[in-house]
Amino acid sequence: MTGASRGIGRAIATKLAEEGARVVINYNSSSKEAEDLQRQIAEEGGESITYKADVSNSKDVGGLVDATMRKFGRVDILVNNAGIVFRKKILEATEEDWDRTMDVNLKSVFLCCKAVAPIMIGQKRGKIVNVSSISGVNGPPSAVEIPDYTASKAGVIGLTRALAVDLAPMVNVNVVCPGAVETDMLATMTEQARTARIAETPLRRFGRPEEIAAAVLFLASDDSDFVTGETLVVSGGRPVM
Ligand code: NAP
Repeated sequence: MTGASRGIGRAIATKLAEEGARVVINYNSSSKEAEDLQRQIAEEGGESITYKADVSNSKDVGGLVDATMRKFGRVDILVNNAGIVFRKKILEATEEDWDRTMDVNLKSVFLCCKAVAPIMIGQKRGKIVNVSSISGVNGPPSAVEIPDYTASKAGVIGLTRALAVDLAPMVNVNVVCPGAVETDMLATMTEQARTARIAETPLRRFGRPEEIAAAVLFLASDDSDFVTGETLVVSGGRPVM
């Protein structure tokens, strides 16, 4: 479970633990939050470990998967959730912004899937759930505000479809595309953009992390055994253009 220390990832890790999964709480910088989550899961009778890894780095990803195998001996579910956004339009965005966004949001999915797929194939079973964004399927206006993020999230959808075919029939690979969800990631959004996003949303509110976690749980569970390569938009009805 990548990027499990805060926000949507934290909610997904919590829900998976509630359902009995033994969880690897990956974080990059939020060690205190990751340890808090581990404590919370333990208090509720669950089992987890924390592991610091920058998932855009192949060595770190190798360490994360090795630590998982040493502790639990298998990987049934991979959730690629870690993500960042800079909120710079094309004229302000730098090459470094582009590279970091692609590395954290898209390359990390490639690296984690590449590391975990052989294990899942060996088990003859596995579920991979990627977290993209409605930005990855939507056109403007949000794409204008976050072009590098939009491109990275569209890439996650394309990669999901390719892997769903390549890793079938052993491994199911699906992608969840959240609309705007109330997390730290939205803290950098302007008031004007917040108002615009809510106005575009038929359910007239932002989502809660738990609502994204519920969709991920479905795709990680046996209930979705006949679903692969699918894009599940969870956006309060915000239109996909
Ligand atoms: P968030 O609150 O900012 O949390 C981001 C998480 O990603 C943190 O746990 C962070 O860990 C982790 N992370 C960032 N860079 C990492 C790296 N290099 N290696 C490992 N972990 C890293 O964001 P969020 O809103 O929960 O977003 C979660 C996912 O949902 C992202 O992929 C995001 O693009 C997607 N999403 C969010 C929204 C939204 O409105 N919130 C909408 C659509 C899609 P540390 O703090 O430990 O660094």
